[in-house]
Amino acid sequence: MVTDRRPLHALTVDVEEWFHILDAGPRPERWEHLPSRIDVGLARIFGLCERFGVHATFFVLGWVARRRPDVVAEIVRRGHEVGSHSFGHRVLRELGPDGFARDLDASLDAIARAGGNVRAYRAPGFSLTTQSSWAFGVLADRGIELDASLFLGPRAHGGWSLDRSGPFAVVLGDGRTVIEIPTVPLRVLGQALPFSGGGYLRLLPTALIDHGFACAERAGQPVCVYVHPRELDPDPPELPLPIARRFKYYVGLDTVAPKLEHLLARHRFGTVSAVAAAATLGAPLELR
Ligand SMILES: [Zn+2]
Repeated sequence: MVTDRRPLHALTVDVEEWFHILDAGPRPERWEHLPSRIDVGLARIFGLCERFGVHATFFVLGWVARRRPDVVAEIVRRGHEVGSHSFGHRVLRELGPDGFARDLDASLDAIARAGGNVRAYRAPGFSLTTQSSWAFGVLADRGIELDASLFLGPRAHGGWSLDRSGPFAVVLGDGRTVIEIPTVPLRVLGQALPFSGGGYLRLLPTALIDHGFACAERAGQPVCVYVHPRELDPDPPELPLPIARRFKYYVGLDTVAPKLEHLLARHRFGTVSAVAAAATLGAPLELR
């Protein structure tokens, strides 16, 4: 048997609806009155994964799992990993430790009822920051072993300045650990440029994204790619957003599927669990 020695990168999908947009989206009371369009983007993601023989981690919003348990069942049926993306898509700073624990429990319950078994978590908006590092203790209490909530650079709702370029263990005061699979920006002229997901994946030229992958592979570190079903929906309903946010959410939608195809054809991808198992961990982050 020939072993593929290329580095393994993480392919992750935040499974939320077209209207789950932080700050500018409709209020939660309105959500149940809005149509579900998650299938359009998911079908394209499932198709690409099948074509390239890739398994991904789908971080499902608990609210989606409760409304659409069939979505969780389909992710499981296809052999992908199911993670939690919180229940109500609120940033950790707003929730506080108790609110975070309640929101996490609600998401794990909704996903379990739909047939998903969760060992990985991703916070909305990468909002697990130095100010909300208490979240790691709550995750460990619930048996969550992997986290993909850290963005290692400046960011609207999150961001850590840590000198790491790949996975590492977060060590709690009592010695328990959570393995972190961070999203790492590309360093360009001293600036941290996100390149592997969301609006950045849509808007950046493919050559720059390739450069980001080349740098990570030279350093022997995995890239964490993150996409949303709405980004692979060619015709999502548009929310009344300010012009800058409209640009961030709707421009370049038709480039995401070809870019993912480009990346899947050139690199090896897997779930965050597979990446954690394959990675050489960097220096641990001690939270004592
Ligand atoms: Zn999200």
